[in-house]
Amino acid sequence: MVSRRLAVQSLSTLSVAAFASRANAEQSCEVFTSATQGATTPDAALQLLKAGNDRFVAGTTRNCDMLKQLKDTAKQQSPFAVVVGCIDSRVPPELVFDQRLGDIFAARIAGNFVNTDILGSLEFATQLAGAKLIVVLGHTECGAIKGAADNAKLGNLTAMLENIRPSLKKLNYQGVPSSKDKELVQRLADQNAKDAVAKVTQKSAVIKNLVALGKVKVVGAMHDISTGKITWFA
Ligand SMILES: [Zn+2]
Repeated sequence: MVSRRLAVQSLSTLSVAAFASRANAEQSCEVFTSATQGATTPDAALQLLKAGNDRFVAGTTRNCDMLKQLKDTAKQQSPFAVVVGCIDSRVPPELVFDQRLGDIFAARIAGNFVNTDILGSLEFATQLAGAKLIVVLGHTECGAIKGAADNAKLGNLTAMLENIRPSLKKLNYQGVPSSKDKELVQRLADQNAKDAVAKVTQKSAVIKNLVALGKVKVVGAMHDISTGKITWFA
């Protein structure tokens, strides 16, 4: 009985290892379980997203049985990463990283900044739900970034853009900032994403602790809406 239990245990350890190594090369349509999520390191999670974007750009995305995945994730989800992205219709994290049901959490807000609510969502995704990687995903030609550059005023948008304006100040722009300056818009998009990455650990003691323990990584990236290619900051 004991030996049988050990055999089953080692078989399951083996299959988790096999899953992790296969996932590094090409992601299968098997949904993540708590075991396979646990066997995925932050670096392996990053590799999965890089490989997924490579597939997206190459036009070789996975064709998974979504109804099977629906059934397989109905009782529990074990996503390996969480993405903070913009609401932009051209940058859905699941599509540009070629991920399917149960693979990644996505928090989306215009201009992909982090505030208390987004940080709380990230703490849930990592500390409570086990995700190994936090990605702040900016993108080119971002309307929210352009709005912040122009100091646009409209209803609640005015207050929302205040989350991005501090990044603009850091650029020490000479003259009156304007979204007509395409280089400025991209510099602000980069700065805003980098500031959001820094803020995650500055404002969340929970995530700072997970990072210190090596359980979670926080990285920034920039999606080019004309090519689909994602460039990583680190
Ligand atoms: Zn945007």
